Amino acid sequence: MAGIGNRPGALRSVHMSDSHISQHFETLAIHAGNTADPQTGAVVPPIYQVSTYKQDGVGGLRGGYEYSRSANPTRTALEENLAALEGGRRGLAFASGLAAEDTLLRTLLTPGDHVVIPNDAYGGTFRLFAKVATRWGVEWSVADTSDPAAVRAAITPKTKAVWVETPSNPLLGITDIAAVAQVAHDAGVKLVVDNTFATPYLQQPLSLGADVVVHSLTKYMGGHSDVVGGALIVSDPGLGEELAYHQNAMGAVAGPFDSWLVLRGTKTLAVRMDRHSENATKIADMLTRHPRVTGVCYPGLPEHPGHDVAVKQMKAFGGMVSFRVEGGEAAAVEVCNRAKIFTLGESLGGVESLIEHPGRMTHASAAGSPLEVPADLVRLSVGIENVDDLLEDLKQALA
Ligand SMILES: *Cc1c(COP(=O)(O)O)cnc(C)c1O
Repeated sequence: MAGIGNRPGALRSVHMSDSHISQHFETLAIHAGNTADPQTGAVVPPIYQVSTYKQDGVGGLRGGYEYSRSANPTRTALEENLAALEGGRRGLAFASGLAAEDTLLRTLLTPGDHVVIPNDAYGGTFRLFAKVATRWGVEWSVADTSDPAAVRAAITPKTKAVWVETPSNPLLGITDIAAVAQVAHDAGVKLVVDNTFATPYLQQPLSLGADVVVHSLTKYMGGHSDVVGGALIVSDPGLGEELAYHQNAMGAVAGPFDSWLVLRGTKTLAVRMDRHSENATKIADMLTRHPRVTGVCYPGLPEHPGHDVAVKQMKAFGGMVSFRVEGGEAAAVEVCNRAKIFTLGESLGGVESLIEHPGRMTHASAAGSPLEVPADLVRLSVGIENVDDLLEDLKQALA
């Protein structure tokens, strides 16, 4: 049986990220992992829809591939691309964001360990801690991660990791990654950053001191609402090996076609994020002046409490905007129902604009917990349509 150290992904990802290290993000997005097929010259890596690989004599692997749970060339291409974009040494692709998170938890933690989790986070992440990890003896407590002192106070002698989401879902809170990395490392604890909302184009947590970056590739990385996937990216090769061991041992890997779709998505990430950010900025600005809107959450607004930190650690402020509607839950639900171009639906990060009611939809699992969201909150995933059409749609939905 070949050990994890024989996996080609390990060697090639280190090589690839080193050879691309001096290139800019937009260039890496298109070229890292995308080497022309050696046999045909195909410019885009093919979908290697295959489970096993012919061996030249027992143990004679061609290119190191033996079984597609352990490694698959299309997935390797994506994993190299992800490592390069986050400025890490190792990227690993999973069947979903939550599969990536579960693999990470079971790699870092054993029963009795404690994790500090944020007071605003993706509902499914909270559910994974509250309903699943708890049953395996993992303890957690909630802190306002936008306050480094609150994170320090929540760390106990049993703490093994601090988990941060910035910007957070759905309230768009901002955590100072460098400051919290300092707090975590002073306590000998690892910092995990969910970078789904920002993407590596807008923010690179590893360069700010994070130990692990988590992604739902389902969102901006895929970018077209046509694939579910997840990823972990790390700088430390040893931790990378441990995670790769668990990725193979637990088996929640990204399939070849899903890997190919995400690899196609990341090529346009930079141009998409520029437009998402531009459109969201104009929409947040309109909402702050709308008489029926009682509050707007967007880190690009100067009055946002995390604005200065966001300016320091982000290139732009992304495409997610949340706002509160006068008239409570019924009014917020009504706005969601009346929108036409903004499609009523869960998820985010695609080219098309989406609208949802977090309290009843994405964050229903956080009801009654410290992560419960306001009932009058509406969340927008601002797409890359013409912004004038989007502004008109919101105005008619609020009228
Ligand atoms: C969607 C999401 C996840 C979970 O990812 P899936 O691909 O749906 O499993 C995790 N974190 C954030 C911030 C998300 O938006």
